[in-house]
Amino acid sequence: MVYIFGHKNPDTDSICSSLVMEKFDKNLGLEVEARRLGNVNKETQYVLDYLGIKAPELLERVEEGQRVVLVDHNEFNQSVEGIEQAKVETVIDHHRIANFQTKEPLYYRAEPVGCTATILYKKFKEENMPIEKKEAILMLSAIISDTLLLKSPTTTEEDKKALEQLGKIADIDINSYGMDMLKAGTNLDDFSAEQLINLDAKKSEKGNKKFVIAQVNTVSIEEVLKRKEAIEQAMTKEIENNGLHLFVFAITDILNSNTQVIALGKETAVVEKAFGTSLQDHMVFLEGVVSRKKQILPVIDENM
Ligand code: MN
Ligand code: MN
Repeated sequence: MVYIFGHKNPDTDSICSSLVMEKFDKNLGLEVEARRLGNVNKETQYVLDYLGIKAPELLERVEEGQRVVLVDHNEFNQSVEGIEQAKVETVIDHHRIANFQTKEPLYYRAEPVGCTATILYKKFKEENMPIEKKEAILMLSAIISDTLLLKSPTTTEEDKKALEQLGKIADIDINSYGMDMLKAGTNLDDFSAEQLINLDAKKSEKGNKKFVIAQVNTVSIEEVLKRKEAIEQAMTKEIENNGLHLFVFAITDILNSNTQVIALGKETAVVEKAFGTSLQDHMVFLEGVVSRKKQILPVIDENM
């Protein structure tokens, strides 16, 4: 059995692309099963409920030699426990390639598009494989999520085209469905500060420096900042417990496409250099910034 999974703290692309890749491989007669590396977030749950399907089973760790397919990530520190000893057979991804090494040859497909599902859409087309309504909704949901309804600067012409075509197959109004789906993910009230900063946290390393960039989507930055004190306490705890040099918490306003950043740790000067401005109250407001991958991570990594 080959397991297919996205990254830890799975987002909609990681869950949906795992399910779609499972369908793709099963169509080819392969024995595969989608898995997930963490809790399903509210946005993704909206998609699963809409389709009336269950999330993939949780995968805690893999044994040595386990055959795996990675979607929506490649960095081992974002992958399953035991990944170093697994047999990575395939990667389908749209991120930078880092902290990644295999013993054996593999199938690797990386494209600088806005979403893994966009690559999967192309794979279906290339194989002349029909796309059913369920897979169309899974893929279009992933694209809407990763590109914030095509508003993120990570959006490419290929994402736009894929979304349009998938919308036709699914026969749904992309904008109203997409807004409902994105909003479902912004209800953060019942999460503790600790949970909030870990909902969508990605670990990175540069040299011997470890840092985390976490992100939440909201329709009101103010609302989230009401809990700033508790959030900062949780961030400080995370920094101490994990020996982090920097913790960046990005609160992204999906309606106005801006991000409020809270930064803590001994390397906060990196954030100031990265965005050319000084932190006020541990914060910096980034106009027009919504993409961690394209607008936050690269500049922080470069200045780290
Ligand atoms: Mn992702
Ligand atoms: Mn993605």
